[in-house]
Amino acid sequence: MKNPLLQSFNTPYTTAPFSQIKNEHFKPAFEEAIKIAKAEIDEITSNSEIPSFKNTIETLDFSGYTLDRLSSIFFNLNSAETNDEIQKIAQEVSPLLSEFSNDIRLNEKLFERVKSIYDDRKKLNLTVEQATLLDKKYKNFARNGANLNDNAKAKLREIDMKLSKLSLQFGENVLAETNAFEMLLTDENQLKGLPDGAKEAAKMAAKEKNLEGWLITLDYPSYVPFMTYADDRSLRKKLAIAFGARAFKNNEYDNQKVVLDIVNLRHERANLLGYKTHAHFVLEERMAETPEKVLSFSNDLLEKAKPAAEKEFKQLSDFAKKDGIEQLQKWDGAYYSEKLKKQNFDLDQEALKPYFKLENVIDGAFTVAHKLFGLQFKEVETIDKYHKDVKTYEVTTTNGDFIAVFYADFFPRKGKRNGAWMTSYKSQWKKDNENSRPHISIVCNFTKPTETKPSLLTFNEVTTLFHEFGHALHGMLADTVYPSLSGTSVYWDFVELPSQLLENWCYEKEALDLFAKHYETNEPIPMELVQKIKDSSNFLEGMQTMRQLSFGLLDMQWHGADPTNIKNVKEFENQAFADTQLYPDVAENCMSTAFSHIFQGGYSSGYYSYKWAEVLDADAFEYFKETGIFNKETAKKLLDNVLSQGGTDKPMDLYKRFRGSAPSNKALLKRAGLIGKD
Ligand SMILES: [Zn+2]
Repeated sequence: MKNPLLQSFNTPYTTAPFSQIKNEHFKPAFEEAIKIAKAEIDEITSNSEIPSFKNTIETLDFSGYTLDRLSSIFFNLNSAETNDEIQKIAQEVSPLLSEFSNDIRLNEKLFERVKSIYDDRKKLNLTVEQATLLDKKYKNFARNGANLNDNAKAKLREIDMKLSKLSLQFGENVLAETNAFEMLLTDENQLKGLPDGAKEAAKMAAKEKNLEGWLITLDYPSYVPFMTYADDRSLRKKLAIAFGARAFKNNEYDNQKVVLDIVNLRHERANLLGYKTHAHFVLEERMAETPEKVLSFSNDLLEKAKPAAEKEFKQLSDFAKKDGIEQLQKWDGAYYSEKLKKQNFDLDQEALKPYFKLENVIDGAFTVAHKLFGLQFKEVETIDKYHKDVKTYEVTTTNGDFIAVFYADFFPRKGKRNGAWMTSYKSQWKKDNENSRPHISIVCNFTKPTETKPSLLTFNEVTTLFHEFGHALHGMLADTVYPSLSGTSVYWDFVELPSQLLENWCYEKEALDLFAKHYETNEPIPMELVQKIKDSSNFLEGMQTMRQLSFGLLDMQWHGADPTNIKNVKEFENQAFADTQLYPDVAENCMSTAFSHIFQGGYSSGYYSYKWAEVLDADAFEYFKETGIFNKETAKKLLDNVLSQGGTDKPMDLYKRFRGSAPSNKALLKRAGLIGKD
């Protein structure tokens, strides 16, 4: 019996043959696909012809196709429809895959060829896309030390090894410290203010440990509701201080030295590779380009957000004063914000749900895509699926030209991880006069239908659907030559533009009128309700913005300068926070020792991206508002310069071609209510 994963897929549009795949096919398929990919690389390096763009860079980008498709099928299933067996296979194949990609990166013969082409690049008459691909392939080696001498290479490996151990240790320490704390409450009065759900969860948590009463922990699902709703101020204080003191107690799980070691090693690594700082190294491959630009971006926003934040802080303090709070503290913030929000807006999320039946919202997203880009979505039953709940669509232009296969998987079930995401089963590329179209998927965890009610979405789920659909459009509308530059293969601080941009349509009457109708009466959604959501989402926006900026600035301070002389983590942090703090400092707390985003995960020198993406989407949508939210010309500019272009050119250039100018933060400040509507 042949392994279906190693045959060319004899399915409509060569979609993944889910129904033929059995778990035992995966491991041998990976082993074989890696062998094939290796042979393809060997063929490049042993080619006796002079290295050329075509016989090296292009061939390299189209190599490993079997492995790519196999990996996407396998890892997508591991996220959306996993089980113990699949997880075990993942454990087994992950080392094989990282070994394979290391082999390529350390392949000196291959690098020699790439470098000789790179050194000649000015003479080669490459297209912009080809030049971008060459640059990407070259940097993939250079940024991993391919240009260094043997001593320096060995040094780099040593640093990388230390760094991977340290970030692991950082995470383990935070986890140990998070788990080490628990607050057992035995008097129900101590839980006053908490919603029933949170109380129940606390009771369950106690029961699981054979304890009487209610157990509160530092895990977000326990911590956040307690800080938001619990009336008992002294308990909020106790919990907040415990949270802020994680890995900052001079015990065996302390992260202060780990932080200093990480930033120093990152700096050393960057220097070794010829970069001024770690941030310069990271930002070379970002739309923002340099730490200087990130700083001026952040400070521009801060200048506008700070007066608003101070005003809001005063409002919040005055509001709390009525409750006898003399000085608003960190453990009061979430609690009084929630109370004030309720007083100001009295928003009933439930009242909106009947207007957002899932089927209507999907149709709405399709209609928006049709009005903007002329796309048509037709549900088809002929495409193989990995679960019966998955919906499959054929996407075409108005003329019937095939654009993409679209999978949508909406409901939670065992074996699917939390959250919502877009992914692909096959990327788009062009070769030998063929434009091979992509297979794109979105996976969500939306409210399920019941026996008596269809799936009715919360407004948050509606914007989530549009968000993921925006990513999906980026994938489906891709029109590039090379697979590694296609669709969402763009810099990190650019990838959220299409997704966040599309969310904006959810707030516009002209768009909502197309689909937001009561599922029983067909009556259109009352716009006052939508306006209320909009207003409430901007509530305390100045404080929120300043908080986000403070994290981004802290990240940049750690990584954008020589850290050699930093001796004290807390002191350094306080200096970095000097311009952005509203609450009094808590001496026994430290943010950096538990800042997993930048010391454990891959977000170092990248925290600014959250705000960066908001500036982009607000500025881009402003263009639609100026010209009409369904203006075909504006949509075509977006399609031609951004959505179809993937990572073929510098994102700032792509953006300017769409918008006519670099992004301005004005639209975001206006949308967030931080400057007047002029
Ligand atoms: Zn996203």
